[in-house]
Amino acid sequence: MSIILDKLSSDLNTNSPLIIAGPCSAESQQQLLSTAYSLKEIGIKIFRAGIWKPRTRPNSFEGVGEIGLEWLKNVRLETNMKIMTEVANPNHLDDILKNDIDMIWIGARTTGNPFAVQEIANALKGVDIPVFVKNPLNEDLNLWIGAIERFHNSDIKQILAIHRGFFAYGSQKYRNIPQWQIPVELKRIMPSIPLLCDPSHIAGHRSLVKEVSQTALDLNFDGLMIESHINPSEALSDKEQQLPTNELKKLLSNLILRENNISDDDVAVSLKGLRSQIDSLDLDLIEILIKRMTIAQKIGLKKKDNGITILQPERWEYILKDRVLNGKKGGLSNEFLILLLRAIHQESINIQTNIMNRNL
Ligand code: PEP
Ligand code: MN
Repeated sequence: MSIILDKLSSDLNTNSPLIIAGPCSAESQQQLLSTAYSLKEIGIKIFRAGIWKPRTRPNSFEGVGEIGLEWLKNVRLETNMKIMTEVANPNHLDDILKNDIDMIWIGARTTGNPFAVQEIANALKGVDIPVFVKNPLNEDLNLWIGAIERFHNSDIKQILAIHRGFFAYGSQKYRNIPQWQIPVELKRIMPSIPLLCDPSHIAGHRSLVKEVSQTALDLNFDGLMIESHINPSEALSDKEQQLPTNELKKLLSNLILRENNISDDDVAVSLKGLRSQIDSLDLDLIEILIKRMTIAQKIGLKKKDNGITILQPERWEYILKDRVLNGKKGGLSNEFLILLLRAIHQESINIQTNIMNRNL
């Protein structure tokens, strides 16, 4: 376990996964307190609520502002939970530090703005507070890493990351697509930064929060931040995705915690056998791709000699349709096949472009 997580878990006297819960927004003292009492009862130790809400369109509920910090402090007083809220600029941070809030998170829209992140990081110099950094809205891992580095450079000791999915125009199933490979890559590059998942903003609807939470835990995430409201139908923001506290209780007790280590010898042996099959198939795949690209090279030369363009849309259309059809027969998903074929086709175009431009 990472040192940061170790410290937080022991401060909170809890085991991982770390669970943070609370409403999307603070709406009234009454709403915060009743949600908090109910969450405390199910064992939640960190309470979240947004005070300043970054909304996509104006004239939506933009948060209650500074008064909400007083309400949050009352939650701490009454329940002994740690309290956390979102910071988007140094003025928010000023108010938060004056009010001695326990933890902060940087929202997705702020992480995507290096100026804002740097200003907050500068204002945090010398302050010891856990900072949770959400991924930016767009699928830019470096922007996420960059924000973490800015806090690191300000000497913040407790930095954690939160995966909340990525904006995709017309996204269908989820409000924000998970693109799990991006947080997994973050974990590979920055293994000491604990990684949490916010399944609520990925799911966009409460019925999907459980499956996203389970996937996150199956991918070794260190914790979850889940939106929960005492009465979601009256919530002033994100009402579709917030869980009533009793549903959160059910979700948490049904989550399956799997082991990262393989302790059973028989399982280890059979996994090893299956993995060596994968290793050898991967080598075959690479072998075939090399052969395919060698032919693409020959095609490039032929096109160059005969003054033909690289891209022939009907041919590409045919390849895509034909391969997707065949792959789907074998149970491969449409999404995967299209991604794979696009990557192969792009590499083929790159090779042919090099040939065309050689000795211009
Ligand atoms: C939130 O947590 O309520 C929030 C605004 O999240 P995000 O920045 O991930 O959209
Ligand atoms: Mn929200």
